[in-house]
Amino acid sequence: MKYIKLFIIGAIACSIFCQCISNNKSPKYVFFIIGDGMGVNQVLGTQMYIAEKEGKIGRKELSFTSFPQTTIASTYSQYNAVTCSAASGTALACGEKTKNGAIGMDSLLSKPLFSVAQKLRQQGKNVGIVTSVSIDHATPAAFYAHQPHRSMYYDIALDAAKSDFDFFGGAGFLQLQKDTNSVNVLTILQDSNYFIAKGIEEYNRNHEKIVLLQDFEKESLDFAIDRENQDLSLSNLVSSALDFLTKEDNGFFLMIEGGLIDWACHSNDAATVFAEVEDLSNTMNEVLRFYHQHPDETLIILTADHETGGLSLGTGDYQLNLSVLQNQKKSAYKLNEMFNQMAKEKGENICWEDVKTFLEDNFGFWKNVELTKEETNELRNIFEKRFLLHQNTQQQTLYLNGEQLISQSVKILNKKANIGWSSYGHSAGFVPVFAIGLGAEKIQGIMDNTDFYQLLTEN
Ligand SMILES: [Zn+2]
Repeated sequence: MKYIKLFIIGAIACSIFCQCISNNKSPKYVFFIIGDGMGVNQVLGTQMYIAEKEGKIGRKELSFTSFPQTTIASTYSQYNAVTCSAASGTALACGEKTKNGAIGMDSLLSKPLFSVAQKLRQQGKNVGIVTSVSIDHATPAAFYAHQPHRSMYYDIALDAAKSDFDFFGGAGFLQLQKDTNSVNVLTILQDSNYFIAKGIEEYNRNHEKIVLLQDFEKESLDFAIDRENQDLSLSNLVSSALDFLTKEDNGFFLMIEGGLIDWACHSNDAATVFAEVEDLSNTMNEVLRFYHQHPDETLIILTADHETGGLSLGTGDYQLNLSVLQNQKKSAYKLNEMFNQMAKEKGENICWEDVKTFLEDNFGFWKNVELTKEETNELRNIFEKRFLLHQNTQQQTLYLNGEQLISQSVKILNKKANIGWSSYGHSAGFVPVFAIGLGAEKIQGIMDNTDFYQLLTEN
């Protein structure tokens, strides 16, 4: 009898102990996804835009907005209330506030900070870094590089070669050589056993480590709104990364950045922003497919590094008119290219009718979107300055040096949608956080961007 009692007590104790162990189990597969510049209104605006296109006022669920755990996070950096992507990337990756501009270094620029990717690599997990911009850009760099400034692209790329991470995927690199005497970044990567695959056709999992690029020197993939069927997408990069990282059974850490949300916000281009957020949501379907195969071993956290543009949904009237944005056919970037091409072809013969046809075809002006007399005059005045008086009408934002005729047209369309922008830069606004999977319940209460490191590396 005594032995039976002891056995029962032992069995209960064992089951409690085992339960504790399983509750503390760390995820075998970790996804950390960052929408660059994606504040709460970038997400809500996308949801409301899609709903409006279906004739409804409200929110259409995106793949990640239905995750069970959601909260908001602050993003300020060590010395600035408004962060840059380098400091916020470092805070997300390494769990410490730093100086704006610094990549994986402390705020005094005196010591390197190690990222969750580096720590999990040390613990034996495979590691992948995927972005829709260049691999040496601030957000991805914060996970593998240690440089005092984000503009040191060559040195950042050399840190990628040293990282020993398994998979890098992105548009390309910004600087292949520092000067004519320096060794090409691609050669250094190859010497570190990386296979360089240009385009999805060259991707092959039978390599030790891989860098998958759209082109060797390229700053970004195409915007989702501009994408032609054959273009490389963030979703293509993520599915290759998943294929590559699962060829061994080590578990993995995969960072995915939707980097072009920020670029579109910097040019206050709402139609392009919402298409990018929707594209990130579609990319998440790849991730969720994996999650549903391994629900007990996977953690997915999706957040942003900061808000960009001070996007507001509503400009005074108690309504939005987001569906008008459908009339914009391409991103401001692409429209600039197309406009310059048209202007070059027409040469001296270009007339207001040509410009009007271009704006009609690409913004729906006059045909689907009624313009006031003042709005038409504004555009016509810019045309005259640019083509009759030969004055400089270029307008510079962070990632775009473009024609004022295009930026003014984007501005008019955003105004008609009742979308407001407070700047061409970043803001300190809260960013959203969404999580699902093993350990996701720890995402709760208002967070800060330095909280994720601890959460992803504990156990
Ligand atoms: Zn930015």
